[in-house]
Amino acid sequence: MQYYLNGFKPGDPDDHRSNADLSTHKSEALPEQVDVLIVGCGPAGLLLAAQLARFPDICTRIVDQKTGPLEMGQADGVSGRSLEIFQALGFSERVLKEAYFLEAITFWASNGDKPEEIVRRSKKIDGRGAFSEFPHVVLNQARVHQFLLDRMAQSPAQLSPHYGHRLIEMKIDESGENPYPVEATLERDGQSERQRIAARYVVGCDGARSTVRQKLGLELRGDSANKAWGVMDLLVVSDFPDIRIKSIIQSDVEGALLIIPREGGHLVRLYVEMDKLKESERVASLNITIENLIAAARRILHPYTLDVREVVWWSVYEIGQRVCESFANRPTTVTDNRWPNVFIVGDACHTHSPKAGQGMNVSMHDSFNLGWKLASVIRGRIIPDVLSSYEAERRAIARELIDFDRELSTMFSVQNDDTHDATQLEKYMIKHDGYVSGTQTRYSPSLIVAESDCQELAEGFRIGTRLDACPVVRLTDARPLHLRHALEADGRWRIIGFGDAAHPESGNSGLIRFVEYLQNHADSPIRRYTGEEEDIDAVIELLAVFQQDFRDVDITSLPDLLWPAKGIYGLRDHSKVFCPDLHRGVDIYDVKGIDREKGCAVVVRPDQHVAGVWGLDGLVEMGEFFAGFMVER
Ligand code: FAD
Repeated sequence: MQYYLNGFKPGDPDDHRSNADLSTHKSEALPEQVDVLIVGCGPAGLLLAAQLARFPDICTRIVDQKTGPLEMGQADGVSGRSLEIFQALGFSERVLKEAYFLEAITFWASNGDKPEEIVRRSKKIDGRGAFSEFPHVVLNQARVHQFLLDRMAQSPAQLSPHYGHRLIEMKIDESGENPYPVEATLERDGQSERQRIAARYVVGCDGARSTVRQKLGLELRGDSANKAWGVMDLLVVSDFPDIRIKSIIQSDVEGALLIIPREGGHLVRLYVEMDKLKESERVASLNITIENLIAAARRILHPYTLDVREVVWWSVYEIGQRVCESFANRPTTVTDNRWPNVFIVGDACHTHSPKAGQGMNVSMHDSFNLGWKLASVIRGRIIPDVLSSYEAERRAIARELIDFDRELSTMFSVQNDDTHDATQLEKYMIKHDGYVSGTQTRYSPSLIVAESDCQELAEGFRIGTRLDACPVVRLTDARPLHLRHALEADGRWRIIGFGDAAHPESGNSGLIRFVEYLQNHADSPIRRYTGEEEDIDAVIELLAVFQQDFRDVDITSLPDLLWPAKGIYGLRDHSKVFCPDLHRGVDIYDVKGIDREKGCAVVVRPDQHVAGVWGLDGLVEMGEFFAGFMVER
């Protein structure tokens, strides 16, 4: 994170509120017109708001029918990819400080001779840790909400939700003449008067029963048979030896139980499969009591004991595997020069079981895909056609998730008999560790993902996937960091130039020629899309990685674009050039398969996905790629 560019300010540099802001509570009324109206303060809505709050020139508002923030319950799994996104938003360390780390997993099943008793089948390292520099962790959804709320409040737009506002009606003016074509009608808690807001864009982050989706005439399609799971957050005393390890227990007699240890060392979450509840306990799932759920958990855990000292939260979570046929009011195929202005995100467009811990994660990843596109279109940086890629990219992911969840759910309920391999679930889960970590998402070629034939120049940065992490050191101060951690979620594109074999000061360096073209040539995408009045890295930031040791390259010998003067004082930015971390034996060229002889350029989208790989002599092709969607200043 960089700060003090435009002058020193005392206090928390990450808090953009002034002292005057902090001393007066902001409770302004909703404006009549907004750029973006977000409906729903779940993880999807709050993450979107946190991204948009970065831009004070965008008028964003977020409303929720609830009277205040969530306090407990709901989802709790936070994947490695979600933490990567939190890092880009600037608060991953807060999550890591509080969360439980899922480092191991155990599988339990009925004991052959005594099927009413369970026995441990295996205890393994949780494989998800291999896919991200961040672990897979568990933390109450309410805490994640709080971090997002803090991020919003401290951002330049200083956003906070308008609670107690329920969306009841939404109309879209299809004339194409109206700059604020979506009219939303809100009902306020305890007030008969309704409020109308005209919005350029409305994003329905309003959960599985989404009003926005209904108003678009869209439906969730899929399994109509909802599966019910009892879920309880408990403080317990138990002699079950794996009570502090994620455990999957499949009792042939009593059904399945999932144990998720939680933050703080004592709290534990139990999911009880409801199919196996006794008829007298079930009646209708709505009549289930916490006593029924605890009794079922005790039966499954036998011969181990479960003494419940406090029930913190419990619920019967009933959900089917469903996905919506469209994620926006205009499908991807529209060719009439109009683009979507109403979107649905998260549970509003896909629902699935809690078993893989994806509820909160995939919803936030949807928002991370949409947020930069909305911000860039509203700020006139990219053409609105890019908005159609939200549905194209995220619906494919939702479909995958639903298929994965359906298979996983079936295996959870399968009994271990002669026809089923007892280790089937275990193998399936291990095989899909990468998928569950959220890091394997790959977007197909489109306006914003290039069809490139230069992938072999950077094998480890697969086009369409998020930029994989790799340690480097910063040239100017030798600070070790992951290269991706230099990429904040600030709406900017990045071109990362990897040096060829020639030393940058040799007069023969391909990367230096590449940088000089971007710095000086009239066709340079950096020059074409950045305004005269803006810092040179405001739209597309150029970063460079040289293969030499940090002691062998002098920043002042490099072109200005690699250490540009910025801000009101013309301060130099010393954070754009990196070298391999040779001191710790990690060479990014080896780890990521970068062509040492030729070098290359990796273009990264604002959501950290690799948009393309080009040779250092591929400037014309790279320029054509940007010209396909960027707006000239
Ligand atoms: P949500 O978190 O559902 O947020 C939607 C928000 O929109 C809500 O705050 C709601 O009040 C608001 N809203 C809805 N309609 C309107 C309207 N008309 N006007 C204004 N605001 C509106 N996942 C798990 O993995 N494990 C669990 O145990 C689990 N338990 C859950 C229990 C419950 C009761 C619920 C609702 C969800 C649970 N989930 C669980 C699912 C998980 O919480 C969701 O997958 C995740 O929250 C999805 O995020 P979202 O932002 O898309 O929607």
